[in-house]
Amino acid sequence: MSSGGGQDVITTLGPGADFRHDYDYLAGYKDRSDRELERLLRFRRHSEGATRGAIEERVAEHFDSLRRRLFESPYYRRVLSSGGLSPRDLGRVSDLAAFPTLSRAILGEHWREIPVVDEESRDYCDAALVRSSGSTGAPIQIVRDGYDLVHMWTMVRYWAIVAEVDLPPAPVVVLLCDLPSGLEYQSRLPTLDGGMLYRISTRQRCPQKRLASADPDILFSDPSGLHWLLGQGDVPTPRMVLSSAQYLGPAMRDETTRRLGSPVINYYSSSETGPIAWECLGRPGHFHVLLPDVWVESLMGELVVTRLRPSLVPLLRYRMGDAGQVAFDECDCGYRGLTISGFSGRRACEFVGPDGDRVDAWKLARLFKHRALDGFRLTQVDRCEFCLELLSADGGTDGGHRDIDQELIAALKRLGWRDPKVTVEYPRELTVRGPKPQPFCRQFDG
Ligand SMILES: [Zn+2]
Repeated sequence: MSSGGGQDVITTLGPGADFRHDYDYLAGYKDRSDRELERLLRFRRHSEGATRGAIEERVAEHFDSLRRRLFESPYYRRVLSSGGLSPRDLGRVSDLAAFPTLSRAILGEHWREIPVVDEESRDYCDAALVRSSGSTGAPIQIVRDGYDLVHMWTMVRYWAIVAEVDLPPAPVVVLLCDLPSGLEYQSRLPTLDGGMLYRISTRQRCPQKRLASADPDILFSDPSGLHWLLGQGDVPTPRMVLSSAQYLGPAMRDETTRRLGSPVINYYSSSETGPIAWECLGRPGHFHVLLPDVWVESLMGELVVTRLRPSLVPLLRYRMGDAGQVAFDECDCGYRGLTISGFSGRRACEFVGPDGDRVDAWKLARLFKHRALDGFRLTQVDRCEFCLELLSADGGTDGGHRDIDQELIAALKRLGWRDPKVTVEYPRELTVRGPKPQPFCRQFDG
């Protein structure tokens, strides 16, 4: 196992393009990608009109690989046997309830002994060690096997079918990134029909120019990147937009669809599990689970994910820390299976504007992304009053962020507040209400 996809070739390019990653060695996963796509599509075809019982039975047919990996994982061998359990006890969906859950903290602690060590397998030799984004706490080490590294390109082909989008041969994919690192690179995508990936940073010079010259067929971003894009005069016209990582409000999704003229797939994913669900194109707020790749439970209101897609890293009942309800669903869009609703992992928060209009608080997220913070919470306490709690890396100090109140006031003015009052506090920790910290809150009824 290498610590970053061993054979990457990194070459410095000219302005705006810092790195070139050569992922040609991943071409060997093309057949596997085709099989995984076919598995998802087959499940989708056969789910039409199926009842909950039939769906559960068909999902259980995909337990084999997980059972085998649980036998082979040093961590699970130990934990299951000490609890008097065997992977053989996992035959049906309902059997999951007897098995232990896995928290983020435990995964972070046992990341070396959860994966299966199989030195003969290509998946193992190509595996990479990545760090989670840390958006929900301190980053942890995560092992991704060889196929995990290309799985997203299988999902792109799947979502293109869901959204009824024709992908051209060798599609151009742009990852529009609003993160402060400013990292840019380009790479071939051997498992996506030989397409090309361009990572373009809004923080580098002239991103619009590079975006226009790439002329993407597929655009990946997040609400923060889309917010930047919608503020530009000229926007690209990709065939499909994919958004993840933060709450994407229906208004921004609609505006993106209208301006860019393409469907927006808003998907739910985590570094630990990979893609889990996507938001129905016809029913905002309803996320259809990617059966049979994952099974999702709601345990005391918390989403818990079991990965059934074959992987060297078995994930059994992984606690996401996001709140939501899961139910069997027959959606008008044709989806039959599990749907997550009341999803509040990336919870919507609407501030009430000076004239009583609603303002998506996540539009302010960009202000905080480029700062080295351990956390923050912005609360609207009255119509024109806000309280910002900042958790600096030094804990309890301003950590060099004294100028943030002026930046915040300027941003609030752009959103319509004429004379907003901002109080900044530097607590030692943020009290968390619910399973995850919520960066935007309103304690004011408007
Ligand atoms: Zn639907």
